Amino acid sequence: MKKKLISMSLLAVVFLFSGCGNNAKKVTNDAPISRSNFYLGTYCKVTIYDKSDESILDKAFNRIEEFDKMLSINKENTEVDNINDKSGIEKVKVNDDIFKLIDKSLNYSKLTGGAFDTSIGPIVKLWNIGLDSARVPSKEEVTKALPLVGYKNVELNANEKTVYLKEKGMALDFGAIAKGYIADEVVEVLKDNGVKKAIVDLGGNIYALGSNKEDKPWKIGIQDPDLERNNIIGYMYSSNKSVVTSGIYERFFEKDGVKYHHILSPFNGYPFNNEIMGVTIVSDLSIDGDALSTSTFSLGLNEGIKFINSIPNVDAIFITKDHKIYLTDGIRNNFSLTNEKYKLAN
Ligand code: ADP
Ligand code: MG
Repeated sequence: MKKKLISMSLLAVVFLFSGCGNNAKKVTNDAPISRSNFYLGTYCKVTIYDKSDESILDKAFNRIEEFDKMLSINKENTEVDNINDKSGIEKVKVNDDIFKLIDKSLNYSKLTGGAFDTSIGPIVKLWNIGLDSARVPSKEEVTKALPLVGYKNVELNANEKTVYLKEKGMALDFGAIAKGYIADEVVEVLKDNGVKKAIVDLGGNIYALGSNKEDKPWKIGIQDPDLERNNIIGYMYSSNKSVVTSGIYERFFEKDGVKYHHILSPFNGYPFNNEIMGVTIVSDLSIDGDALSTSTFSLGLNEGIKFINSIPNVDAIFITKDHKIYLTDGIRNNFSLTNEKYKLAN
């Protein structure tokens, strides 16, 4: 079995209705072209609605495959392995994509006061959540691994294009940000090839390019965390937006009646534990959505809402464990609740 690298979230959190709102009746001649493949530990799907040139899909998937090779932890000598292996020893020259990923990650670390930390690798490896080897580590193990987590010990050199992890045993993990970055890159490939209507779906990390066949914004459903794909709590309309969800129900394991999920605190080494069940971020860039959906967990509900409201052009839908929905200001008029189990709470 292919090992997890980025995400095992086969249950995509965001589900999309193709076609337009309520009246998808207009008949057009050319059917969309679509391709789906298992990469980066999840299903990646690209659907193009205004071109029938399959070679564009080839190009899009070539780009995804490039990242799959760079980031997979089960492949030998990937760039990321190399950086981690050289921790505490020497700096490593990296390609532009990895450099950008690290650079962006460090920015999010600063923005979130360290709640987002791509050097969380040693803690992720202790828990192994999403893999068969998942387990609850001992307190001693966590205490030992924690000092190895720290974005301030990740040294980037822009002139040399190098990265150096200052402590031996440090390890980068791009699980919280890579799919977002790759989604944006795939969108660039599509745009470069003249595509104006498409959906990029990297395991629930969605980007809705342009408009649908009827020239209306795409209708995007938000998954019901209690159920699988196709069961939604509500929907919204989007054009040229990324819609990304992180949830504690996506990847977890249960031990002695306690659920342990995969969004971990760089401060104490344990899964964040607060009232949030899932958070969906709507943003212009998918890398922002991916990083923010993960890091908002650290803030809890009230601070999380304030935080997202403070960032221009970014909105969020929070789902709490007691089945309430909280919206940020900018999405209030564009979210329709359709599921009676949930209540709008703000
Ligand atoms: P998903 O992988 O389900 O899309 P996320 O985008 O929220 O979910 O990413 C979660 C992954 O990010 C974890 O599996 C782990 O690899 C990594 N991670 C966990 N906690 C953090 C954190 N505090 N900061 C950065 N990365 C994290
Ligand atoms: Mg994320």
